[in-house]
Amino acid sequence: MKKILLASLVSAVFAVPAVAADKADVVVIGAGGAGLSAAVTAHDLGKKVIVLEKMAYVGGNTNRAAGGLNAAESKPQKKLGIVDYKEIHFNDTMKGGKYLNNPELVHTLTDNAAASVDFINSLGGDLNDVGMMAGASKKRSHRPTGGDFVGANVVKTLNQAAKDRKIDLRTMAKAESLLVKDGKVVGVKYVKGGKTYEVMAPAVVMAAGGFSANQDMVVKLNPKLKGFATTNHPGATGDGIVLGEKAGAGLVDMKQIQTHPTVVPGNGEMITEAVRGNGAILVNKDGKRFINELQTRDVVSAAELAQKDKVGFLLFDNDVRKSLKAIETYIKKGLVTEGKDLNELAAKLKIDSKQLQATVDQYSKDQKAGKDSQFGRADMPRPLTQAPYYAVMVTPAVHHTMGGLRINSQAQVLDTKGNVIPGLFAAGEVTGGVHGANRLGGNAMADIVTFGRIAGRNASENPTGVIIPRGESPAVTEQKAVKAM
Ligand SMILES: Cc1cc2nc3c(=O)[nH]c(=O)nc-3n(C[C@H](O)[C@H](O)[C@H](O)COP(=O)(O)OP(=O)(O)OC[C@H]3O[C@@H](n4cnc5c(N)ncnc54)[C@H](O)[C@@H]3O)c2cc1C
Repeated sequence: MKKILLASLVSAVFAVPAVAADKADVVVIGAGGAGLSAAVTAHDLGKKVIVLEKMAYVGGNTNRAAGGLNAAESKPQKKLGIVDYKEIHFNDTMKGGKYLNNPELVHTLTDNAAASVDFINSLGGDLNDVGMMAGASKKRSHRPTGGDFVGANVVKTLNQAAKDRKIDLRTMAKAESLLVKDGKVVGVKYVKGGKTYEVMAPAVVMAAGGFSANQDMVVKLNPKLKGFATTNHPGATGDGIVLGEKAGAGLVDMKQIQTHPTVVPGNGEMITEAVRGNGAILVNKDGKRFINELQTRDVVSAAELAQKDKVGFLLFDNDVRKSLKAIETYIKKGLVTEGKDLNELAAKLKIDSKQLQATVDQYSKDQKAGKDSQFGRADMPRPLTQAPYYAVMVTPAVHHTMGGLRINSQAQVLDTKGNVIPGLFAAGEVTGGVHGANRLGGNAMADIVTFGRIAGRNASENPTGVIIPRGESPAVTEQKAVKAM
């Protein structure tokens, strides 16, 4: 009898497949802002969630987000007396994206971004300061008090929320493929510590970010970007797009790749657009302005590449420095050249001091008159008259990939024919269609939290197909759901 028992035990042990399978209600791939927003939302709807993150750290590119999160009609805006409307945010986003954006996705974004500010603040985040970003016609870029970095605050908040909820978050766990059965996504195969595992789940949320750090993929789609540095974290390699495509997903806007115009040459350190938003100007090596600094990133990048040595100097005074906490970090990192006056700064930058003085004087005069006589910049928050002066040499670098998996406004992934792939949701930079040909600063943060929440909710409530009530826009449906949460 003993022998029989032992034999059956041994055979049971050896019958265990090489790949051990886990079960969850929702599996999230990627622990950036989109993935963590989805995970927290799904958990709060009572679901067992497993998050897979290939890096040793959480946060992805979201960690690096510096400027802000765009939202109109938000509570912080109202508190600060800023009059803004969702429709203006929608129009700015469509214009910035050259009308290539999917309007349905943009409506979902702009109608629900204010609720995303509430979501982060309700979890203990600080999105209470509101500033200006390029391409926006109103101050709607939400950031921590004093103008500190937005991404670090959002990741810290979401990561703490995940910890408090004891969400099963596995780092150094790289998703290798989506498991598909009868046309439905039913789980994920991933590798951790050299071993392969499977997690089975009725819903998978793909939130693996963009591909700006994948030079081969970037150059294949846009050969002009060969040799460009990137602002992105090393994990932004487009895995989610490859995995999604293999599972039958359609792709959209893949060639739309954005460069950011204010990146320090050689080291990929990006200087947030909020520095220009708070009053900095751009000058070239002749000491002259060459563009409306608050034009969209594609326009400013192109203008910069047309200057001597393809660089510009981001220039600001002590008043701008005092207005934005983020600048202190750039100074601490040694990225900023300081002059006690413009003369000293010009000498350090090796540019003509008389010309630089004339440029700054003209800008300050225009600021006072409320009209930029040279480039028509609409928002000039302060004159540049308070020494000391500061400058950072900048050039464009690959920053954001607007294309990716095709989704609908319910964050369901669509196949190449436009049909929903049951069980597969996606949110954040891995998706395409929200930002069109050019993403506005602050809109990615709004995108990842908003679509992350939508993906988390729908993956929990209707993994194989959300029915949108006829006659009601998806945005309205979403707003109702947010209220219900
Ligand atoms: C320097 C910088 C500054 C920025 N500033 C702003 C700003 O001020 N405002 C704004 O709106 N936007 C900003 N952006 C853009 C914004 O930060 C990103 O678009 C956004 O954070 C992307 O979020 P995400 O969750 O989609 O992806 P990520 O935050 O990149 O997260 C994706 C995660 O998925 C993981 N992953 C990838 N492949 C796999 C795999 N196979 N298996 C498991 N995990 C995987 C990655 O490691 C990563 O952690 C900035 C970007 C950069 C680089």
